[in-house]
Amino acid sequence: MKEKIARVMQGRYGVDSLSKFLLVCGLVVVFGAALFDNVLISSLGNLLGWLFVIYCYFRLFSRNVAKRYAENQAFLAKTYKIRCFFYRQKDILKQRRVYHIYQCPGCKQKIRIPRGKGKIEVRCPKCSTTFIKKS
Ligand SMILES: [Zn+2]
Repeated sequence: MKEKIARVMQGRYGVDSLSKFLLVCGLVVVFGAALFDNVLISSLGNLLGWLFVIYCYFRLFSRNVAKRYAENQAFLAKTYKIRCFFYRQKDILKQRRVYHIYQCPGCKQKIRIPRGKGKIEVRCPKCSTTFIKKS
């Protein structure tokens, strides 16, 4: 079975970020459209959602690897800032477990303090203002 799939996929483009995005978008639109009572909106949404899914599969089985690769690169370039934003939010959430983030009262510089050290005096590395915080 595995060999059969491998043979079918030989020379074909396969999965990439754009395909995953299209599939998720398509499913979200299809299920979202089902929530509408309006027949026109729900059938249009259904159609649009399935077009996303079909396009995703078209890309998956496409033999024009260079073109699909270029599409994916364009997609990644266009979404670079959005993806960076989400990575940053994720990183901040991760850091919040281990660190407290304070803002310097003098210059508004963000200062990262490890948690669980009790009351400490914080010295801003930028403007040397000192202030007392519980970590
Ligand atoms: Zn400061």
